[in-house]
Amino acid sequence: MSTHAHPRHPRGVTIPDELVRRLAGAKSMTVLTGAGVSAESGVPTFRDAQTGLWAQYRPEELATPRAFRRNPRLVWEWYAWRRKLVANAKPNPAHLALAELERLLPRFQLITQNVDGLHQRAGSQRVIELHGNIMRTRCYDEGTAVYRWEDTGDIPPKCPNCGGRLRPDVVWFEEALPETEMELATRASTTCDVFCSVGTSTVVHPAASLPFEALDSGATVVEINLQPTPFTARAHFALAGAAGLVLPELLASVRSRFRISLSELPAGQKPSQCRRS
Ligand SMILES: [Zn+2]
Repeated sequence: MSTHAHPRHPRGVTIPDELVRRLAGAKSMTVLTGAGVSAESGVPTFRDAQTGLWAQYRPEELATPRAFRRNPRLVWEWYAWRRKLVANAKPNPAHLALAELERLLPRFQLITQNVDGLHQRAGSQRVIELHGNIMRTRCYDEGTAVYRWEDTGDIPPKCPNCGGRLRPDVVWFEEALPETEMELATRASTTCDVFCSVGTSTVVHPAASLPFEALDSGATVVEINLQPTPFTARAHFALAGAAGLVLPELLASVRSRFRISLSELPAGQKPSQCRRS
């Protein structure tokens, strides 16, 4: 049965008591985030970043292995432009609330489809990046991460190890998701008590299958998104709203639930998770 909460007023969302109860009692929580969470920090989507001189290109001319082989300079510069946009963005209340939930709950795993690293900048430590990280660089030939290279004026720069070309460490169109990350994400989704999908359209597979797998594995499944998605009708709790509004409210509700259970416990029997609230 789905519980669809409707905003009490335009800037607030009702967090169902039953959801708070389940979350406070959860031994593990897994959260999947998508573009909506980044958008609330003003990070433009791929398409939205295609302004000015970038507007003339099709996405497959900027973000495929083929595009990189044909015109590596263009692709490198496209990512240099987007790195600048990301560097100017800051974590929003959704990022901060997720970092806080990680500290509060016994076992917490974040899975993100975003490449901007804003979760880590907000303090999240357990982050699986399904689409890579735009701030990281790797060798196109060797696939290895590269952190330092000599500035020889080459664009893209050359790999200090093999002399090959460097590329952004993101998943391009026509590329598969990294296997290890996908395996870890699937495991975290199928072994958690509560699964929460935030700011993602739940359309692009394979990430879109994670909430369904969590559901099939018996997790309580929550969706937080501005618009309905193909998953909304299946979610136990669907909260329509901005992640930056809903997640802080959810966090506050869980915290106050911890405080209540803490006050009901005799001294000396306080679970460690409550002390941190
Ligand atoms: Zn190399």
